[in-house]
Amino acid sequence: MSERFCYRCGISESEGGPLIDGLCQVCYRKENPVLLIEDEINTELCQNCGSYKKRGVWVDPKSYELEELIFEVAENALLETLEDSLSDKIREYEVVPPEELDEIEDLPVGRAAVSFEPVDFHIEYFPAIIVYEVRVKAKTHELQRELHDERKRVTVYVRQTVCPRCQKFLGGYFEAILQVRAEDRPLTEEERKAIGKLVEQKVDEIMRRDRMGFIQDTIEKEEGLDFYMGSTSSARKIAQAIKERFGGTISEAYELVGIDRQTSKEVYRTSVSVRIPKFRRGDIVADRKGNVYEVERVDGKGLTLRNLENWESEHFDWKTAKREAIDTVEHEDSEAMVTSMSPREVQLMDMESYETYELNRPPFEVKEGEVYKMVGVKGRKYFRGKK
Ligand SMILES: [Zn+2]
Ligand SMILES: [Zn+2]
Repeated sequence: MSERFCYRCGISESEGGPLIDGLCQVCYRKENPVLLIEDEINTELCQNCGSYKKRGVWVDPKSYELEELIFEVAENALLETLEDSLSDKIREYEVVPPEELDEIEDLPVGRAAVSFEPVDFHIEYFPAIIVYEVRVKAKTHELQRELHDERKRVTVYVRQTVCPRCQKFLGGYFEAILQVRAEDRPLTEEERKAIGKLVEQKVDEIMRRDRMGFIQDTIEKEEGLDFYMGSTSSARKIAQAIKERFGGTISEAYELVGIDRQTSKEVYRTSVSVRIPKFRRGDIVADRKGNVYEVERVDGKGLTLRNLENWESEHFDWKTAKREAIDTVEHEDSEAMVTSMSPREVQLMDMESYETYELNRPPFEVKEGEVYKMVGVKGRKYFRGKK
């Protein structure tokens, strides 16, 4: 049998073989490079929010520290480009640290190991420039004695831009208005604060998934709060969170605001309204039978009321509260001193008018000479508590 020779360099198979497709080992590797990446890569990050494109989709960065951020963006661009520019003989690859790549001497056919490290950079101003040394080891043919081992210097330019979300945000864009109101009364200061805090927390949570979930603006109105939101779904989620905390009802309305010039579709703006119940802790309410209560607690599930007759607490879910026609009643607050007691009754003296009146003994211990807070509803007096 006669000796075969490499058709490219002429070396004999016994010296430079085994031949692969007529090529010696060295020529095979040269003719079939695995690292086909270009010398320069351009990428960008949003100067407003630090986000950048990952496979065409804008994502928030892991780090907001500028130096780390620039490297994060540059490495992402490098790896995406690298993945797209490996030889199609490579079916899978892994990224390893350079020291680890040094040690690799064999790989399964179709597999590559990749490492990269920055060898030069200046990131003090934009575009930031980072030069990477990229190295790939790979095996593409089972007859290969030695792995492909290729290196290349790649320069990544990181430029600044404004992402589409921030373009909208900075342009004053909003998609929905979230209105927070209370039934039949303005929101209290306390409620405004609590709602503001809840909304902030919720937006942080939502923004991790919905980049358009931002608050464009918050308007304090006499009757309540208006939040201008980047997305309707964000407005809905926040409305739901407010309802869960404070109770109430949610409604939506739509308003035609124009025509999209690009799609010629009608553009609607959504108003999401949460109306929290009018009841607050300390309110005096009555049911349809005339029982009088003090409101102890209000939340998404319902009301906890203390019956002022027997001082027992009762929980009403919102449905029951509605059925029992629980509503605020006109009442007068006063103070009275216990002047005398019999086994079943107490005599009281109003601290302002000095008028005296009698009541059944309340379901708690009272003492002569002490002053109590009283509440009057429809001509009847109830003990509300100790002064
Ligand atoms: Zn050769
Ligand atoms: Zn942005």
